[in-house]
Amino acid sequence: MAREAKDKCGVFGVWGPSDSAHRVYTALFAQQHRGQESAGIAVSNGSRLGAHVGMGLVPEVFNETILDKLAGNAGIGHNRYSTTGSSRACNAQPLLEEYIGGQVAVAHNGNLVNAARLRRDYETRGHIFHTSTDTEVITHLLASHHLSKDDPLAESLLHLQGAYSLVFLFADRIEAVRDPWGWRPLVLGKTDDGYDCVASETVALDAIGATMVREVLPGEIVTLSDNGVSTRRFAESQVPAHCIFEHVYFANPSSSVFGDTVQIVRERLGEVLAREAPVEADCVIPMPDSGRSAALGYARASEIPYREGIVPNRYVGRTFIRPTQKQRDTAVQIKLNAVPDVVSGKRLIVVDDSIVRGTTTRGKMAQLRRAGAKEIHLRISCPPIRHACYFGVDFPDPSQLIANQRSVEEIRDFLAVDSLHFLSLEGMLGCVSRPPGEYCTACFSGDYRISVDKQVNKLDLERNQYKMFT
Ligand code: AMP
Repeated sequence: MAREAKDKCGVFGVWGPSDSAHRVYTALFAQQHRGQESAGIAVSNGSRLGAHVGMGLVPEVFNETILDKLAGNAGIGHNRYSTTGSSRACNAQPLLEEYIGGQVAVAHNGNLVNAARLRRDYETRGHIFHTSTDTEVITHLLASHHLSKDDPLAESLLHLQGAYSLVFLFADRIEAVRDPWGWRPLVLGKTDDGYDCVASETVALDAIGATMVREVLPGEIVTLSDNGVSTRRFAESQVPAHCIFEHVYFANPSSSVFGDTVQIVRERLGEVLAREAPVEADCVIPMPDSGRSAALGYARASEIPYREGIVPNRYVGRTFIRPTQKQRDTAVQIKLNAVPDVVSGKRLIVVDDSIVRGTTTRGKMAQLRRAGAKEIHLRISCPPIRHACYFGVDFPDPSQLIANQRSVEEIRDFLAVDSLHFLSLEGMLGCVSRPPGEYCTACFSGDYRISVDKQVNKLDLERNQYKMFT
């Protein structure tokens, strides 16, 4: 019944409107791509907090009746996605806690690399934990510092190592926080009727009719309350370590992330890919949906026609979230169907954003062959993923990453394609606006910005949990 503590999630918060829960719901819906495992909303009515969380997609967790019951003039929300393994309702966020300072709810996007150590320290002092997420140590820190420090939140954050975009809800305010490296995105916005809000992605702001004001800065705490927006620093900004994979795969194409529009970056990735690895072919085919933007760029730069040769079934979730390989394989078959009249007898350039385990990709390539493809030239719009991510993207154990122990030629052979090219690291970094040193590329390069304990058992935080069969 294992589950990893890593999360790549979405967070949101809005201060002021009487229909806060409904707005949070809409924002979470827009950020569904950031997490499909559980969803939750916490609200404040000015003196008390209330919350509803549950397993599943946002519309599966909420309905009108539940949203109406979540009455309050402020709310925060969370979309959660962890890797394979059992799913537990107790880990759904926002976490709502009672402590000596009152009530607090917290929603977290990212991954703490020192959570296991912090938790062990607290447990030896008698603290009881009721989840297996890294996030819970944050509320324990807050409670511990409540009486002794002027700014318990700022003090608590100084103890955290790793990636965290956090939204806290207290009865009288929202506090939005971004780690000093800015690993994950977090933006401040204003609704068209004047309410302040924060979101992981601008797509959530668009959904509720808000506009982006600015990014929450690395090392900054932004407070939203009846007094408007105020800001303070809890740490000096570091050289940023913005996750480049947000641009490659994770974020919504319409979002602006780290100062660049994701769709534009992805098209550029495809253009550079075409220049790095040209090949004669009849058409460029995207792997839906993740390869679409890059395929468009590839087709434009190579002047080879763009065709849709694989049709997705929109009603199957992302195959990656299926816990077992057998379930993943079946889901791939249902999810994608090749169009024989487009691919049969053709030399195809197939573009996708990334290869992780390689198993889904192999299934897709086999389908194209069965549909009669004459040649398959696979082009991937990022470098080979060889290393684990400790900062919030769900890459499996490195031994499961196909590129970890294999050469590009061996991967080509495994996938049974005629040629294979991964975009170079330099090529990828040339497609974003910030200087190359301001992005975290550790999953490709192994160059971790802060020290990580690679021996830490990802299941450490599970050890005291009861088995749950629900
Ligand atoms: P595979 O061939 O099994 O490695 O799967 C590759 C597909 O997974 C690509 O189409 C990617 O878009 C997608 N993918 C990449 N990273 C992730 C991730 N962290 N979670 C879910 N899917 C991913």
